[in-house]
Amino acid sequence: MMNTSRCILFGAAAFLLFVFSAVYVFSDGEESKYKLLRESMVKNQIEARGVKNELVLHAMRTVKRHLFVPAKSREYAYRDSALPIAENQTISQPYIVALMTELLQPKPEHSILEIGTGSGYQAAVLAEICENVYTIEIVEPLAKQAKSLLTSLWYQTIQFKTGDGYQGWEEHAPFDGIMVTAAPKQIPQPLVEQLKEGGRMVIPVGDQNQTLMLLTKKDGVLHKKEIIPVRFVPMTGETLKK
Ligand code: SAH
Repeated sequence: MMNTSRCILFGAAAFLLFVFSAVYVFSDGEESKYKLLRESMVKNQIEARGVKNELVLHAMRTVKRHLFVPAKSREYAYRDSALPIAENQTISQPYIVALMTELLQPKPEHSILEIGTGSGYQAAVLAEICENVYTIEIVEPLAKQAKSLLTSLWYQTIQFKTGDGYQGWEEHAPFDGIMVTAAPKQIPQPLVEQLKEGGRMVIPVGDQNQTLMLLTKKDGVLHKKEIIPVRFVPMTGETLKK
């Protein structure tokens, strides 16, 4: 009798051990597959197009983009394209995320404001580099989802706000950098005012035809440079009334 129950116990333990190792090996396999895809994304899509900033390349190699896209498109997460996320919004193409981050010239001690949290991916890339990241999202379900994902991934330095990013985030201004990931027709004036002297803003501007712009503030004067044509979702809220 004793032997039979010992046998059952042993069998059950062996079975559980088998199941746990299979799950471990399988999930680890998935993770190493994504790591390889991430490395190839950085090499072939980002470095190949001229992004050189080591902090940016490291962040792009680190952030698990597949966790920020809907489960059904997970295997496409490292493709050279934007992807749809919830609420008819998009997560930007990896190269555009890297380019915009590089244009900001982020430093570890910087305080950065992002408008348009979306999936939270760009905020995570910024948080890999900068001490203080503030991000604002106007669509509440997206804001909630991004906050819960980024919190679960231990991005503890990101601060979240649900609301219209047009007004920026006065309490935490001025910012070393401002990154806007939805396109307004005109540059929102409150954002210009919340940019530090010497600070940089990266923003897509326009309607049908949008241009990625780099704005720098020097001696209180805003200098504008056109970078490349882009296509972002439109910025909503206050900017539509202007
Ligand atoms: N940075 C995101 C991409 C977001 S797409 C990422 O990495 O996934 C642009 C986002 O801007 C959308 O989620 C949209 O809801 C948001 N948005 C549009 N207008 C906004 C506004 N006025 N204030 C804040 N967020 C806005």
